[in-house]
Amino acid sequence: MKKIEHLGIAVRDLEQSNDLYSKLLGKKPYKEESVESEGVKTSFFKIGASKIELLEASNPDSPIAKFIEKRGEGIHHIAFDVKDIQAEMERLKAEGFRLLNETPKRGADNKLVCFVHPKSAGGVLIELCQEREE
Ligand code: ZN
Repeated sequence: MKKIEHLGIAVRDLEQSNDLYSKLLGKKPYKEESVESEGVKTSFFKIGASKIELLEASNPDSPIAKFIEKRGEGIHHIAFDVKDIQAEMERLKAEGFRLLNETPKRGADNKLVCFVHPKSAGGVLIELCQEREE
C-alpha cells in the first residue's frame, strides 16, 4: 500500500456538499463523474497527495443510499493506493480479509478498484485502487 489515495464521504446532495467542501478546503472539485455501475455521482477535491471523494446515490438501490439511510451522511470508506491491485487482493485474501469483488473493477477517477468488507476490517470499508494505464 503506497498511501491514502482518498477518503470517500457519503452525501445526500452533491451540489450542496460541493459548495460546503469548496468553502472548507478553499478550492473547487477538479472533477465530477457518474459511475452508473456503482449507482453513484462523485466529485473529487485534491488535498496534497490525497483526495476527498464525495459520493451521492444516483438511484434508491445504490449502496450510498443504503449507507445514508442507516448511518446518515459521513465518512464512507478509506481508499489506499496500490501498485499491483491483483497482488494486494491475493495478499489480503490470504490474511483472511473478505473481498467484495473477486476481480478488480472500474471505479471513478480512472482507477481499478476492489473493496474489502467492513466486517472483516474493523467496521471500516476499505477500497484498494490502482491507477489505470490507458
Ligand atoms: Zn473511493
